[in-house]
Amino acid sequence: MRRNRRSFMPESEQDVKTYYRFNNLSEFVLAMRSVTDNITTLEDLRQITNELLANLTEQNVRYVEFDCALQKYINLGFSLKDVVDTIYDTVLAYQGEHDIKVGLVANLLRAHGPGLAIELVEKILAMDHPFVVGVGLSGDETKYPQKLFVKPFKLVNSSRLHSTVHAGEAKGADSVWSALFDLGAERIDHGTRSIEDPRLVDYLVKHRIPLTQCITSNVRLRVVDGRQAHPFGEFYKRGVKVTLNTDDPQVFETSLNNEYIIAAQKFSLDASDLYTIARNGIDASFADDETKSLLTTTLDSQVKTSLEESGSVIFSDAQINDPTVQR
Ligand SMILES: [Zn+2]
Repeated sequence: MRRNRRSFMPESEQDVKTYYRFNNLSEFVLAMRSVTDNITTLEDLRQITNELLANLTEQNVRYVEFDCALQKYINLGFSLKDVVDTIYDTVLAYQGEHDIKVGLVANLLRAHGPGLAIELVEKILAMDHPFVVGVGLSGDETKYPQKLFVKPFKLVNSSRLHSTVHAGEAKGADSVWSALFDLGAERIDHGTRSIEDPRLVDYLVKHRIPLTQCITSNVRLRVVDGRQAHPFGEFYKRGVKVTLNTDDPQVFETSLNNEYIIAAQKFSLDASDLYTIARNGIDASFADDETKSLLTTTLDSQVKTSLEESGSVIFSDAQINDPTVQR
């Protein structure tokens, strides 16, 4: 959104690549803030939504649940309804010509603090928009722990909305326990460092709590020391309901297809493993039952057969986009 130029803007593609190199989650959060500060109009939101959907359609994605930090736009002076309607109307227009289902997760940014989080959740509940399927929490878990957000999540958990919390990314297993027990999170975003506590891994398996895993993001933010060291394969083997996701695909120079290829190659997964992971994605989503069974039917008819035909080793020659190589 160069046209708005509210904060620092990289000038060239190389500048962007340098700008998107991080040493940790805190640096990433700061960079994301300055990028998203340049999104200032409802027209910007329309454009971004269209670009995102076009990108997903190209990858044959049939359902997406994306996080939106709605408070950012409210702070610019728009009403919650105007912001959600703008994205929803754009999605509806796009769906007129493409087969993709979309759910919105209202993301609470930790840095906005608990006061604004409660206010926003109250507004979301009062609005009861069919497009909003859940509420999430993201941002710097080292500076703003889960305990600060108990109240807004209590409200969410007593409503029809689902809850998901970023945890176990910059902080360890304690942060995941806190997301589960202090906030009642149904789903954990990342949860990567759950691997540090075997009791927690057992708990996740037993209670079928999904982890939305983002391998490239974790490598780029140095949560793990390279892809091979990512616990995704271990979680999967031990029966955790893991799903594959992109986090912020543009920033991390990845795509959902790329994440599936990485998982297959790095953790020696075969066709039926990838099918299971895609099924986990459907199960872990906040879509309604009807949508879930529709997605399962599509997956079964279009993907399962072709994966089975391709044999047990797939993607072995596929080229991974490797943004971790310094350019
Ligand atoms: Zn994330």
